[in-house]
Amino acid sequence: MSRDLSLEKYRNIGIMAHIDAGKTTTTERILYYTGVNYKVGEVHHGTATMDWMEDEQERGITITSAATTCHWNDYRINIIDTPGHVDFTAEVERSLRVLDGAVAIYDAVAGVEAQSETVWRQADKYRVPRIAYINKLDRAGADHARVVEMMAERLNAVPFVIQLPLGIEDAFNGVIDLVENQIISWQGDDKDSTFERLPVSDEHRATVDAAREALMESLAETDEALLETYLEEGALTVEQMKTALRRLTLTLQGVPVLCGSSFKNKGVQPLLDAVVDYLPSPADIGAVVGHSLDYSEEVRREARDDEPFSALVFKIAGNKYGDLAYIRIYSGVVKSGEKVFNVAKNRDERIGHFFQMHANKQKEVKEAATGDIVAIAGFKNVVTGDTICHPDSPLLLERMDFPEPVIHIA
Ligand code: GDP
Repeated sequence: MSRDLSLEKYRNIGIMAHIDAGKTTTTERILYYTGVNYKVGEVHHGTATMDWMEDEQERGITITSAATTCHWNDYRINIIDTPGHVDFTAEVERSLRVLDGAVAIYDAVAGVEAQSETVWRQADKYRVPRIAYINKLDRAGADHARVVEMMAERLNAVPFVIQLPLGIEDAFNGVIDLVENQIISWQGDDKDSTFERLPVSDEHRATVDAAREALMESLAETDEALLETYLEEGALTVEQMKTALRRLTLTLQGVPVLCGSSFKNKGVQPLLDAVVDYLPSPADIGAVVGHSLDYSEEVRREARDDEPFSALVFKIAGNKYGDLAYIRIYSGVVKSGEKVFNVAKNRDERIGHFFQMHANKQKEVKEAATGDIVAIAGFKNVVTGDTICHPDSPLLLERMDFPEPVIHIA
């Protein structure tokens, strides 16, 4: 089969946040901006058109799906709903297994709260690479530096501050991009606010130079060759900084920290760029490791279309079309109408229809492949946590461990 999009262009992500930190607002803005940017005519990506966007602008987009597919530039971002409540710990763990990376959102006033520590530890356990987003910088009492400190102290994270707020509280007006050495400034507070990238002005020059220097130094210290370059050249290039940040994120040695105010429509587009730049694709994660049916041996499946089909059911959710089983495909390809094997139930199932869920509609697809997240209608006896796979190549995924990610840098 020919893929419509290479695996390197997939990002399967979750958004982790303490209640009220702004997960819903940020997700809605992501869906809005990716919808607005999703150009009609790119048929290989689907058939999104702008007509529904006009409606949605009136009503506001709400996320009703366990997984939502959107596109940013030519990347496909699947946002998997990660429950944020502490009582759903088992569900949090399950959803962490099906994502390749996560965005952790913090309230700039409340900082890192107790419950965020639990979810962070769970993400450590499942080796989920993360970027952080400090939201609500427009609020009275917002304190960017304090949240960064709390990340280090409470989460044991190694934060790399790659953006500084431009102004704070009422005066918050944009972010300073320390990697690109630019100011990103928004005009307006509503969803249609536009932004531009500008050179750092004299007013901010000293602060930016100092913060950039500190970032370069801390990045250089993580790698001998990079340190040598830094000492020789006295600076790192944008590419060198991005490559180092990607390596540190993927190996869980560092967390790039961004900031903004989702409510005021500032910071979300650069956050999407960072998802693409720093979080892994399924190809970076590599093989998934499961077990033979009697648990006697380990079974590996590489994240490739030519491997036998394997997938995990991570959510059963009803919507107006009936019950849908959401699956994450780890390997292989599957087509509608095909027979698959449900390992836990020891029975075959037939794939009825399957769908990609977008912000406001579901799009039927005829086949799905490695890395995809799709919702299946028509299963008879499937529950959350079941492994489904090719009938001739069964394996159990539920007790899977993720290996160290392999890094691919373009
Ligand atoms: P969730 O519980 O994490 O999903 O949080 P919500 O997105 O529902 O946000 C909680 C509250 O904070 C809502 O009243 C939002 O309008 C508000 N909020 C979200 N983002 C921001 C922001 O950037 N600044 C301010 N001032 N309020 C925000």
